[in-house]
Amino acid sequence: MNNEKLLLKSETEIFNDLINTLPFGIVIMDQSNVVINVNHKFMEYFQLEEDLLGKPFRLQDLECEILEELIKDRAILVSIRSKIYSMNKIPLTQNNLFPDGYALVFQLYDKHNVVLDKFQQIANVDYLTKLANRGGLYQYFDSLDKSQTMHFLFLDIDNFKIVNDVYGHTSGDELLVMVATKITNCIPGTFVSRIGGDEFVIILSGTLREEEVTNIARNILAEVSNSEYPNDILYMISISIGIVLNQKLDCNLDDILYKCDSAMYRAKKNGKNQFIIFNTMEDEVMEQKRIEEEMHHALANGEFVVYLQPKMNMLTSKLYGAEALVRWEHPTEGLWLPGKFIPIFENNGFIVELDMFVFEEVCKLKKLWKNEVFGHTVISVNMSRLHFYRENFVERLLSITNKYEVNTNEIEIEITEGIFLNNNKENLTVVKKLKDAGFFVSVDDFGSGYSSLNLLKDIPADILKIDREFLQLSEDDVRSKTVIKNVIAMGKDLKLELIAEGVETLDQVLFLTSCGCELGQGFYYSKPLPVDQFVEYAKKYTPLNEKCIKFSFHNNLWDDNQEFKGVYNGDHLTFCEGVIAGTSAIYLTGGGVHQNVVKLPTSVLCSDSYTISMWVKACKSNYWTSLFFLEYEYGFASLVPCSWEGTSTYRVKDRDINGWYDTTCCSLMLNEWIHLAITYDAKSEIVRYYGNGKQIGYLEHVPTLRVLKQIFLGGDIFQNSFQGYVCDLMISDTAKSEKEIWSIFEQYISHPSYKHLWVTTEKNEKEDELKQEN
Ligand code: C2E
Ligand code: CA
Ligand code: CA
Repeated sequence: MNNEKLLLKSETEIFNDLINTLPFGIVIMDQSNVVINVNHKFMEYFQLEEDLLGKPFRLQDLECEILEELIKDRAILVSIRSKIYSMNKIPLTQNNLFPDGYALVFQLYDKHNVVLDKFQQIANVDYLTKLANRGGLYQYFDSLDKSQTMHFLFLDIDNFKIVNDVYGHTSGDELLVMVATKITNCIPGTFVSRIGGDEFVIILSGTLREEEVTNIARNILAEVSNSEYPNDILYMISISIGIVLNQKLDCNLDDILYKCDSAMYRAKKNGKNQFIIFNTMEDEVMEQKRIEEEMHHALANGEFVVYLQPKMNMLTSKLYGAEALVRWEHPTEGLWLPGKFIPIFENNGFIVELDMFVFEEVCKLKKLWKNEVFGHTVISVNMSRLHFYRENFVERLLSITNKYEVNTNEIEIEITEGIFLNNNKENLTVVKKLKDAGFFVSVDDFGSGYSSLNLLKDIPADILKIDREFLQLSEDDVRSKTVIKNVIAMGKDLKLELIAEGVETLDQVLFLTSCGCELGQGFYYSKPLPVDQFVEYAKKYTPLNEKCIKFSFHNNLWDDNQEFKGVYNGDHLTFCEGVIAGTSAIYLTGGGVHQNVVKLPTSVLCSDSYTISMWVKACKSNYWTSLFFLEYEYGFASLVPCSWEGTSTYRVKDRDINGWYDTTCCSLMLNEWIHLAITYDAKSEIVRYYGNGKQIGYLEHVPTLRVLKQIFLGGDIFQNSFQGYVCDLMISDTAKSEKEIWSIFEQYISHPSYKHLWVTTEKNEKEDELKQEN
């Protein structure tokens, strides 16, 4: 009992000592306002001399005027004897020093620390950083004048959890203190709180302008990343900040925090170490809501329309196919591109319906175009990955193709590369099903995301669409160029068709074709076009439209359609057997300049691009003698079997003094039949020289010559004439691809009567290849 009393007494003593050292005025009372304790500072503040202990006490006794209630029932600002104090009322219950009651704590009002003071007094302070804690934030918010607006910043340390897990909690705590210090250094005198873990909330005065707020956010990011701190940790962490500007306070703090938090989350998602302003996001959210409200009506109302972007063969500048790309013709806001609405539809699932709509539109067009020259070009439709999680995806497509009687092999389904990942067996089954149904399947945006090269291995697709960004990267960078080259080479090895997306320049065309990528899609050729404009484009560039004039030399110089006739400038012309049974050849005897040549009407060549092919057996190697000669108003083009020692050349000469463009390859063997072809594509300005179906010469930047004056077979206007045989001369008005040239050549070598030795070896190679494919 004695001991207890002693102890009690000494506790009180300790307590009295303690409160007398504090820089606050403190008075403690019981529930009926009788003073139990009071400290020196209190007596000093209010110049009191008489002993207050055991007497009732009221604020009014101090002649005080209440200026402002800071926190309801707990903190007020008071003016006493012309000085201003903040006064906090702290309930005291269940303590062993006094009966239940409360303490009034007075602190001389100091503009700069009043905020902090309040929280230290009410003990809503974070033990670690000495900032306000979550409770402190709520209390501070409650204390604010609700008619004003303020700015809110929500900060979160990126990778904080890793620091805690890897370096331990002490390091984590140190990091929190460092960040807290940096924040308060950036904005002294401003309210900062740590509301939990690694999350900080700052409230800034509404009088700051937007750029002042963003500057503060920038400063904090910079301060933290430039701080002197162990580098291994510093490199790992950064700060993500969500900002809410001009926030009215007449609402729930939780709602404000929710907005800050979602902006902060967006900052993290965007790659961390940055800030995002919610208000701009808010517009986005509103817009998204609006799009979702309008989408069903828009579909029913015919506001979604299909545009078509041509896919081209870059070697020949001919149409290869088209991709259907959807647009929203918004009744009040004009044309909306898919970037604006597709991501939203991917989220809410509406994309499934929209894709089916696009697919059906394409089938309708196919039906409509049945008899057009371009009617059978393959059109591709993008299909969202969401279809892969629905039953009957392929069946749904087939019911549409059946409805419009469209052949599935005229439609390509573009799927993003993620679907093809090996671990996704079910998805791959659907892909196989698509292929079994007869659709072409392409891997869209190849190279954009996943570990694409792994993906290449057993991909059940027909076509790889090389992502646009891949190509943009490759612009100047040698390493990226190497990557793209290898991707193309691998794709070819795997017998996949390759198409480059986003082809914008001639340089890209040249680079891609030089790597062996023949197909391209992009603004260099055309933007996605409305259907009627696409029809115009397709007509212009469709291979079926091309004109091919063939001279078979069956005892005359007429072409096979009897439209064009060559005129021989010489004594007599011999017709004899050609390269295979059933074909004929002319024998040209050679002679002086412009002697014994066949003049062809210039109308056999009616376009800027062309392919000239023929079988040739040269009997004499006159240097620089022309086999085929095109004379233009300014300049000429000339196929020269023997230009100089061991070489053969297709030479284009334009009006420029230095305008020589020579596509050179090895010279022709004398007295051997060889298939020769020259292609010139005016769009890409490339000349290709083929011997026996294979490209043997190539030249870029060859200008297009215009105004053709004369065409000669077997000589020119400068040199002695050509001596030898020519069989099956063909002239067409487009450049042909390597495949097309090969197939012309192949028609001959697969004929039983064709038995030429050195070409046969090549034939065998190609046949072996074909066998392997099958
Ligand atoms: P995507 O499938 O990669 O389509 C190609 C996009 O690249 C198109 O954008 C096209 O206009 C654009 N493009 C084509 N050539 C060039 C070029 O040379 N340079 C540049 N910078 N861009 C080029 P668009 O039409 O805005 O479509 C964007 C994306 O929206 C498409 O990317 C596709 O993923 C998606 N999309 C479009 N229509 C549909 C659809 O009907 N269904 C689905 N599921 N997705 C679609
Ligand atoms: Ca696509
Ligand atoms: Ca793409």
